[in-house]
Amino acid sequence: MSAQFNRDQVSDEEWALRVDLAAAFRLAVQFDWHESIANHFSAAVSADGKQFLLNPRWKHFSLVKASDLLLLDANDKDVMSRPDAPDPSAWSIHGAVHASVPQAKVLLHCHPPYATALSCLKDPSIKPIDQNTARFYNRIAVDLHFGGIANDEAEGQRIANAFGNSSIMMMGNHGVSCAGETVAEAFEHLYYLERAAKTMMLAYASGQALSVMSSKIAEDTAQSWEEYSESAFAHFDQLKLLLDKSDDSYRH
Ligand SMILES: [Zn+2]
Repeated sequence: MSAQFNRDQVSDEEWALRVDLAAAFRLAVQFDWHESIANHFSAAVSADGKQFLLNPRWKHFSLVKASDLLLLDANDKDVMSRPDAPDPSAWSIHGAVHASVPQAKVLLHCHPPYATALSCLKDPSIKPIDQNTARFYNRIAVDLHFGGIANDEAEGQRIANAFGNSSIMMMGNHGVSCAGETVAEAFEHLYYLERAAKTMMLAYASGQALSVMSSKIAEDTAQSWEEYSESAFAHFDQLKLLLDKSDDSYRH
């Protein structure tokens, strides 16, 4: 793809989305959410979600550049026979989610250590035990029907349906997926989800009973987070500035 990539044929809007998504890959490495050359982040380019950007197959997150991202079309039946065909499980999950989950303009799927550990518990829910965990109170979809590595359309559609109206999905025995209107918002969900899961796992590791907030305090706290949602953009901008200082090649 990058060989034929022509910046002049890409709108400024798509280019900005490419840069942000490329930054998310680099940052995922810094936060240790990456795994081998697997996992996928994507972003819809068309309003109906049928056209979307996705990381190329078998490329390390730390090397992804804006121009590397594949532009795919969910209606294109020949995608998997392209020379730069995406990872089949990425294609089946992200294609289905962008096409049928309206709040998922951006979809970040990975296996961060603490959230994945939590997803492996019989009860993978995040209890409201501090500010970060309360952020997710009643706001996470939980999918407990892991069907093996998703590489067919039916499993992709099943995962898309499991999102419901939520932007965050804990995937039992698997990992997490976070959606958003923008890369910054989806990234912020993923950032706080992993922080919350870390707190949960450390609190569980103590062996002591959790001190769970009342539902009123938990809901109030979650609503306060929603009023504070603009901070996602400031956080992501600051992180990009830090990336620019060390290695700005994601922008190429
Ligand atoms: Zn996965």
